[in-house]
Amino acid sequence: MSELRDPTIEEFYKYCSERKLMAVRCIRCRQVMVPPRAICSNCRHSRVEWVELGQRGKLVTYTIVHVSPPQFKHMTPYAVGIVEMPEGVKIPSIIRTSRPEDLKIGMQLEADFSPRPQEGGWPNWPRYFFKETE
Ligand SMILES: [Zn+2]
Repeated sequence: MSELRDPTIEEFYKYCSERKLMAVRCIRCRQVMVPPRAICSNCRHSRVEWVELGQRGKLVTYTIVHVSPPQFKHMTPYAVGIVEMPEGVKIPSIIRTSRPEDLKIGMQLEADFSPRPQEGGWPNWPRYFFKETE
């Protein structure tokens, strides 16, 4: 599953536009990292490869945002949380749900992608998000 693309945020979001949630994995110690980085955060090895994450993860923690940055104002109130993937990596995400009060720590969530790109740094919410599983 390795890819030759550079381990950068830019490539991460390009994958999102292909509806792929990707991480990089250290060739040496197998540490999985999101956001991608060229140097392993665990063993400092400088060879990493892209791996595709599964579509589902577990909600570790979340908060409901009522006062947002201007670009997300139309979405308020919305939930942001940390989702733990089966690969062991935890990623920040918007949690889309029609009933924020039903969110529960430990529940399964499913990754999905927004077609609308947006400029900005990490985390760049609208390109990927998690939602309740159907
Ligand atoms: Zn490593």
